[in-house]
Amino acid sequence: MPSYTFACSSCNSRENIEMSVKEYSQKYANNLLNTTCGICGGKTNRVYNAVSSKISRSSAEIVSAAKEEARKIVEDINRGSSKAIIDVYGDTDS
Ligand SMILES: [Zn+2]
Repeated sequence: MPSYTFACSSCNSRENIEMSVKEYSQKYANNLLNTTCGICGGKTNRVYNAVSSKISRSSAEIVSAAKEEARKIVEDINRGSSKAIIDVYGDTDS
């Protein structure tokens, strides 16, 4: 199962959360990916970590996950989700 790394925007502590690509996509689509830091209560954001993906997934799984993720991002952008747009094009505040 792929693992996703989240980092706190306040204290920078990191947490690895394992979930299926389907579960990840559903959470992403519903804006449920950003959780609360267990240490300081700050907001956490996904950290993109190519190394862990290479270890735990085959190239075919990575390609299918990337396609699914890209499709979801496009859908979110088409719906006008500012979070998806920031994820792709960057946040000017960061
Ligand atoms: Zn924190």
